[in-house]
Amino acid sequence: MKTLITNAKIFYQHHLMDGEMLFDEHEILDIAPTIERQEDWQVVDGQGLAILPGLVDTHVHLRDPGYTTKETIATGTMAAAAGGYTTIFAMPNVKPFPSTADVMERYLKNIEEHANVRVFPFGTITNDEQGKVPTNYRALKELGIHWFSDDGVGIQSEEVMALAMKRAKEADVMFSCHTEDMVYRKQKASVHESEYATQNGWIGIPSACESEQLKRDLVMVISNGLKYHADHISAKESVQALHAAKAQGADCSGEVTAHHLLLEDKDVKGPMWKMNPPLRSHEDRMALIEGLENGDLDFIANDHAPHTMEEKTRPMELSPFGIVALETAFPLLYTEFVENQKRWSLNQLIGWMAEKPAKRFGLEKCGKLEIGYRPDFFIADLNADVTIDPDTFQSMGKNTPFAGWKSVVDIKQTWFEGKPVYTKQK
Ligand SMILES: [Zn+2]
Repeated sequence: MKTLITNAKIFYQHHLMDGEMLFDEHEILDIAPTIERQEDWQVVDGQGLAILPGLVDTHVHLRDPGYTTKETIATGTMAAAAGGYTTIFAMPNVKPFPSTADVMERYLKNIEEHANVRVFPFGTITNDEQGKVPTNYRALKELGIHWFSDDGVGIQSEEVMALAMKRAKEADVMFSCHTEDMVYRKQKASVHESEYATQNGWIGIPSACESEQLKRDLVMVISNGLKYHADHISAKESVQALHAAKAQGADCSGEVTAHHLLLEDKDVKGPMWKMNPPLRSHEDRMALIEGLENGDLDFIANDHAPHTMEEKTRPMELSPFGIVALETAFPLLYTEFVENQKRWSLNQLIGWMAEKPAKRFGLEKCGKLEIGYRPDFFIADLNADVTIDPDTFQSMGKNTPFAGWKSVVDIKQTWFEGKPVYTKQK
């Protein structure tokens, strides 16, 4: 069936255009100021709201299988839809790890049965994320998996990483890397290493923990030619390392999370602000914002990491790392950087949250509203007055430091493959 959305502001060719959009379940058929309608079309009144391309997040923890008291494929993908996301990449630190074709096949079936939006699972870089034996990339590639990550841990052995990169290059797949050199990680470390941390009795994680292993990897990437993506960049030294590697022709990219763009170490009040890598200094945050603007960093991905409230109300050092992000990322970034600061355009933000991640991860006809592209989008009021309330989240995880924050974005509905998959309840 064909659907025509009328009376809408469609994000088309880099700006909001008053117009109409026609699509079926496979593709967008037309976008124009007016489209001559036919009788058998379904017509939907856009009520003058913004129609934005479905967002893409390359870094999501769905916790399923293995940790379904925190999140499931069904709830995590509904949270994605509620936040405007129609394509997400699921990190492989689930149980069992998708390190073999057998496990991955079952995982893909599970996703097919329960996901509300498009989910691409990562394979692991090393078997069961043990950092010892590279995964058989070719076997997983036959199942359509082109992306590999050991997110949650860094690969400590340079020798193992060199071998993994060699095999990955031969198999023509890409890596998405959480870099963390445990030489720099003290026991019970919870937040950025700073005077503020010491004053609060918290043990710090220095920036070198992230940036030194990233630098090690990038040296190998330059000689190996592997397509390499750096996860959740938090430190200015890491931004500089990516800048330098790109200048030397490395096929590398980097992501930054909404929370690292919005918060700093001094905002930390307790475990609800605890994530890995941690919120760093003001100087680091400014370097992340500038890095994104000048292209040293490539796009935004949010490391959605649901945990139970029991876990996130433990004392700081006993509480797990991570916060939920899918339902707050776009509303808060738009409110802060587009509406309040007027520092970014909507076009820049959509580029970083949809088009650029889609392109870097090799997705076709995704991340833009254009004729022939996938009919994935969300409908939002960009002049609303919303208060972030974790109790309204679709995610099972309510662990956010943004409770009570104000947003001008009200996401009303999300459409995936030409059909509404999420509608906000009044
Ligand atoms: Zn990570």
